[in-house]
Amino acid sequence: MTPKISKPQSTDVPRERSKKPKFIFQAPKGMHDLLPLDQPWWERIRRVLTDVAEFYNFTRIDTPILEDAALFERGVGAGTDIVEKEMYVLKTKGGDRLALRPEFTASIIRAYLEHGMSRLPQPTKLYYFGPVFRHENPQAGRYRQFYQAGFEIVGGESDPVYDAQVILTTCRFIEELKIKNLTVQVNTIGCKVCRQNYKRKLQLYYRSKISSSGKKGEGICKDCERRIETNPLRLLDCKTPSCQPIKEQAPSILDHLCTTCNNHFKQVLEFLDEIPLAYTLNPRLVRGLDYYNRTVFEVFAEGFDVALAGGGRYDYLGEMIGSRVIPAVGSSLGIERLIEVMKTVQIPLPRHKGKVFFVHIGELARKKSLPIIEEFRKAEIDIQEALGKDSLRAQLKVANDKHSPIALIFGQREAFEESIIVRDMRTGVQESVPIVKIVEEVKRRLSMKVDATPLKVAPKK
Ligand code: AMP
Repeated sequence: MTPKISKPQSTDVPRERSKKPKFIFQAPKGMHDLLPLDQPWWERIRRVLTDVAEFYNFTRIDTPILEDAALFERGVGAGTDIVEKEMYVLKTKGGDRLALRPEFTASIIRAYLEHGMSRLPQPTKLYYFGPVFRHENPQAGRYRQFYQAGFEIVGGESDPVYDAQVILTTCRFIEELKIKNLTVQVNTIGCKVCRQNYKRKLQLYYRSKISSSGKKGEGICKDCERRIETNPLRLLDCKTPSCQPIKEQAPSILDHLCTTCNNHFKQVLEFLDEIPLAYTLNPRLVRGLDYYNRTVFEVFAEGFDVALAGGGRYDYLGEMIGSRVIPAVGSSLGIERLIEVMKTVQIPLPRHKGKVFFVHIGELARKKSLPIIEEFRKAEIDIQEALGKDSLRAQLKVANDKHSPIALIFGQREAFEESIIVRDMRTGVQESVPIVKIVEEVKRRLSMKVDATPLKVAPKK
């Protein structure tokens, strides 16, 4: 059975069973809190994103959450679902029409132009991470506020190697999160010229499929009837069951490409053939934003039916927002979907290894603990404690869970003698060290390599 992405439910706080009081505030529909227990997943995503982006020479860009609404109307396209139905638009007190960004790419090209980034060595490789907003019907894997990360290669030539690099970087990022068996669906939607010819063929074909009886279930659906005139490429996106056999027989863009687009696509596939990456050609793949040309792609994880990432080339976007053609290609990934997949297939998070664990025994020791711990913080040594727990057993269990190589044991006797016991958790050996020397001693031990296998220290019964 195909695992489904379930509704996001934080594991953090048990759900209230009692009847909710009236008028309690809740997060807006389709938007959710990222609670403390979920933060390690987000932290992991941000870390891996930074590592992968830096490895492939992408630098970070952050743009405002609000932009001039016209930027998306012109860039993403006034007739697209995102702009027509899903964009949150607001009027400021000063009379500006601003939109909560429904995606990043238009903002990035706006920033590229505004800050004269074309004067930098080209292409400019940028990556981003942040929330986007779409007023969609919330359901599993589909929210109204969700986070996207993405990679964009802007400027230079419309070189197929960049298309392949964006696909590669996107997949490496997902694989670094330990999500396996990815498939990339790839297609091309041609350029202004060849796409125009293709759209006409598609319109002719679909017009012949309008039901003359007007009966439901015969011919194409009402949405497709409308799309024939408004946005013929989106005909290939229709999910209505009765439209599927008609879509199967529709003319293919691959038979209508001009020579330049054909060569471009061929070269993209040749680059992809050279890297260990499973891709399939999907001539029905079109994307919901107007700015794409040539390569488009989506990335799926085995067993999941929603896309984790999507993207493509968008050379015309610069022109659409009032400047000039700027060769560019990019991808965007849905972070909530990545986390849901990681949770569903039970990918373990790497454990945070606290270097030193501080154990106290008795009230006097507890009182004198804070300044000792502060000395470690000043020396920038990662120290963990459980000052809120009294029992030695409970504290050692935390130390064990944290996989700390060193435990510091501070009891009544040590508090009087101004010393502290240093226990090597890997060998089990322990010795008493004066408090004044403890930071230096721990530093020395941490710099030593110990090959012994970590000892599992079972808390005493
Ligand atoms: P798009 O910007 O529409 O190309 O989407 C890029 C990626 O964002 C998709 O592949 C999904 O992973 C994610 N995504 C898109 N829409 C939503 C949504 N409403 N809720 C959650 N994730 C989404």
